[in-house]
Amino acid sequence: MLEKLLHDIEKPGRYFGNEFNAYRKDFSQARMRFVLAFPDLYEVGMSHLGLQLLYHTLNRMEGVLADRVYTPWVDFENRLREYSEPLRALESQRPIGEFDFVGFSLQYELSYTNLLTVLDLAAIPFRSADRTADHPWIIAGGPCAFNPEPLADFLDFVVLGEAEELLKELLQVFTDWRRAGGARQEFLAEVRKIPGIYVPAFFDISYQTDGTIAAIQPRYGDYQSVQKRLLLNLDAESPIPEKPLVPLLGIVHDRLSLEIARGCTRGCRFCQAGFIYRPVRERHPERVLQGAQRALACSGFEDLTLLSLSSGDYSQIHELLRVLMGRLAAQKVAVSLPSLRVGTLTPELMELIRTVRKTGFTLAPEAGSERLRRVINKPVQNDDLLATARSAFHYGWRVLKLYFMMGLPTETRMDLDQLVELCFEIWRLAGEQKHKAAVNISLSTFVPKPHTPFQWLGQISLPVIRGNLDYLKNRMNRRGLRLKWNEPGQSFLEAVFARGDRRLGASLLRAWELGARFDGWTEYFQEQLWMQAFHETGCDPHFYANRERSHTEVLPWDHLSAGVTKEFLWKEYERALAEALTPDCRWDHCSACGICDHENIAPQLHRQAAPIFSGTSPEPAGAHANTSYLYRLHYAKKGDIRFTGQLEVSRCFARAIRRAALPAAFSKGFHPHLKLSFGEALPLGMESEVEELHLTLTENIEPQRILEELNRQLPPGLTVQALARVEKRATKPSLQRVTYRIGELTPFLVHIIIQSWRNRLDERITKKTKRQQADVPLGEVLLDLRPLDDTTLEMDLCEGADLHFRPLAVLIHITKGVQTRMTGSRICKIAMTAFEEGEDVRRTHYQC
Ligand code: SF4
Repeated sequence: MLEKLLHDIEKPGRYFGNEFNAYRKDFSQARMRFVLAFPDLYEVGMSHLGLQLLYHTLNRMEGVLADRVYTPWVDFENRLREYSEPLRALESQRPIGEFDFVGFSLQYELSYTNLLTVLDLAAIPFRSADRTADHPWIIAGGPCAFNPEPLADFLDFVVLGEAEELLKELLQVFTDWRRAGGARQEFLAEVRKIPGIYVPAFFDISYQTDGTIAAIQPRYGDYQSVQKRLLLNLDAESPIPEKPLVPLLGIVHDRLSLEIARGCTRGCRFCQAGFIYRPVRERHPERVLQGAQRALACSGFEDLTLLSLSSGDYSQIHELLRVLMGRLAAQKVAVSLPSLRVGTLTPELMELIRTVRKTGFTLAPEAGSERLRRVINKPVQNDDLLATARSAFHYGWRVLKLYFMMGLPTETRMDLDQLVELCFEIWRLAGEQKHKAAVNISLSTFVPKPHTPFQWLGQISLPVIRGNLDYLKNRMNRRGLRLKWNEPGQSFLEAVFARGDRRLGASLLRAWELGARFDGWTEYFQEQLWMQAFHETGCDPHFYANRERSHTEVLPWDHLSAGVTKEFLWKEYERALAEALTPDCRWDHCSACGICDHENIAPQLHRQAAPIFSGTSPEPAGAHANTSYLYRLHYAKKGDIRFTGQLEVSRCFARAIRRAALPAAFSKGFHPHLKLSFGEALPLGMESEVEELHLTLTENIEPQRILEELNRQLPPGLTVQALARVEKRATKPSLQRVTYRIGELTPFLVHIIIQSWRNRLDERITKKTKRQQADVPLGEVLLDLRPLDDTTLEMDLCEGADLHFRPLAVLIHITKGVQTRMTGSRICKIAMTAFEEGEDVRRTHYQC
């Protein structure tokens, strides 16, 4: 079935996982089966660290199985519908409906329609009220869960804040409830008692005639509001996963992501994450160092990124980076710090970062003028920004990325002009460099978010967004200055849902029915379709996006608390209008935002240098050796991994070599990589038992040992079958006999092919591609064809540099185009033999 479903599907690897380090537990033995769902493509969801942390947390729990699912791209959604196949989880390949819980990670509002797609493909009723004992619990968490109201009808319950500890309590409640054989409503009544769990059905919302909320009425006297969950000790309660998932497919952030801290108290007034994840909690630098080394050894990643909301603010960042680079440089592992504030990106940090490779970073002044930056409480000085840009160019960065927002509160045309002038100044600096440098500007539109000081404000209107964008595009039209922007309609929709209420659920469902999918993807976003959905459901989107709220208005998320008080947020709003700065409590006094009790809950910083920082580290043996030893490998590529392309296979081998700690040789230059050289790429979907690869090591190691080490580290489906030391690469024969086994055909098709192939040998077969044009008699290509059984054939083709026909193309020629009946066939390359010198290979068979 997999063949039929994945035939001609873009990147089939999205749907079968096979990641190295995946748990693959026994489905039938688990007490609680959880599928973590990311409502976006695999490549996006697999890049999200939070989901991976939960995956490891759940799978570490006794009796719990956690699998994953991502929203299928539109082609695969259509294919599943065509074959009436349910959406399945990645590892177990079980239908989503067979799990006990489906837990969605809500990272951005524009993924909401993708959540509905997953439910629909899993045949799970959209509305919580329509689900029965046969259906899983549909739950959600993540930043958007702090106002999940637009999804209230679709979710059974919501996790507010950090879930790691809460999941243990959930397992206990679930086990007891299942043992007691209780009703669905009884489980919800129990689960609400777990701190941090919000059951939308236990709150009734009433509205005033002007559309604003009249009251949020709880159904239980002891369940009036929900407080977020907070981990007090990251190292103990959410340890760094030792064996991170290693994808086969190239994903958006294909590297080891390691969280060094949670929370940020810089207090940027537009930033929701800065308020909902307070207070700051740093991981101990020693844990980070050990975690990084272990996870790199178990994953083989060639890049490491140190994540937090503001990595440059991590107390021991310089020391940590210095020691990390000292230990990782010889292995050519590059380190990046993607979220750096202008003031924290020092020349010393740049010097450290570029040790292996100049990994990218983005400078985010957010606003063009210093005045507006005071409004948003991000007081970056233009001089500091220019000095940082100058240093970056000086240290060899060729591209500088800048991030700005339009439509921030109190913004005027003068602020936009100053934004342009600032970009020009940096662009002029780029122009002064010896090597050509470029400046990339990213522009997005400000979206007021719940639980921030700007939660009462309206977003600027769509015509104003479009007018400002046109103005900036016209003014910044310079060579070497690249401008990217978010589509205004998408920012508007984000603003509608960010502060929406339950009434928006009807519009969301209608938009999905009309065809809305992947709204965060500009090429898929359909503004008109959304406007139609709002119109048909009697909803005014401007009421949510552009309206300013009064201080006393009941907000849809007023019963959900991130710990920071509403009074503090209002005070911050007033300070914004007064352009007053609020200091970071890490370095200054506490601003009394409300989250800390200063006994159990308080910022956790590690300001003392860890003892580990004083030592030096040995470099791995052979890292600088000049001698090199060449090995030739023959390997098989079989099973699901046949849907993985050559680039990914080469990455699999590179990471397996790193995990096996083999002394690999690296290329020289700006981007050093392992010396690996592959033969011709296999077509996607084809298996092979005879692939070839050359590998260079800096030490002479016994081939059998390398073979065994590699096979321990390769993902399922890739197996090294033979390995030998060689002096040089073998030259490819000009022509060779290649044997294929073609299985899973119908007996009828096998009969037709065997009966007719000899009669067609005089016919000409043609092929016209960018790389090759051929028009030859079939007999020069097809050497032999024999049945193995009712449904399997074996075929010998003559192949060379100027003669290369795919086996399926040959079969289609013989059967005169019954292609649809062959899409389910399974092809494996099983042998390659060079012809004897002087042998008239093309005619041998043809003449006899
Ligand atoms: S309560 Fe004070 S110390 Fe704690 S996060 Fe808020 S401002 Fe910082």
